[in-house]
Amino acid sequence: CGIVGYVGPQSALGVVTAGLKRLEYRGYDSAGVAVLTDGGLATAKRAGKLVNLEKELAERPLPTGTTGIGHTRWATHGGPTDANAHPHLDNAGRVAVVHNGIIENFAALREELAARGHHLASETDTEVVAHLLAEEFSGCADLAEAMRLVCRRLEGAFTLVAVHADEPDVVVGARRNSPLVVGVGEGEAFLASDVAAFIAHTRDAVELGQDQVVELRRDAVTVTDFDGAPADVREYHVDWDA
Ligand code: GLU
Repeated sequence: CGIVGYVGPQSALGVVTAGLKRLEYRGYDSAGVAVLTDGGLATAKRAGKLVNLEKELAERPLPTGTTGIGHTRWATHGGPTDANAHPHLDNAGRVAVVHNGIIENFAALREELAARGHHLASETDTEVVAHLLAEEFSGCADLAEAMRLVCRRLEGAFTLVAVHADEPDVVVGARRNSPLVVGVGEGEAFLASDVAAFIAHTRDAVELGQDQVVELRRDAVTVTDFDGAPADVREYHVDWDA
């Protein structure tokens, strides 16, 4: 239901959890985060309110990292359990993805992935995206390109945001029929389903159009369509208070 992503010099966990709090008003049943650490990926997720996730993080702190993503879930496929909470990972635990919306053709994709030896750990429509991203990334070593290839195979409505342990300092997002906004700061960048998540940090925003993929680095925001062609975006300044 709510999505936040961050890359920059700050602790990603702090930025992402504060952003998720700003999105709490939208309602949700579970919450989770993923942070890129030194060569790896660390996640925490819990059914229930953000306070449950915060308790989990207090008991089992994540290693510090400056690239991360977070999610508050409103379950559509699979009940509100810890296992179904986002982020979802591939089997190697190298890619993490969060999702708003519904992947309509997930059942066929799940079957296809299972036949290729993937083990799916949740009942969500979302998890297929993590496995597909891992497969595509192993061919191109470029998370934005992997996201474009995967999005071309998805049906339905989605905002997707992902990180890969083999591409530190990069957050990738995509959208179709579901909102996604970029916040551009000084040496840092944000992604969210709603600008409220990042206006404490920056008011320079870029709204993604339909069927676009964005790659966020500390000093660069690159937007393309699902075929990789440079895309037109709407840049604006948020001058209201959320
Ligand atoms: N369809 C996904 C799920 O049930 C995402 C739901 C949402 O938008 O939060 O896990």
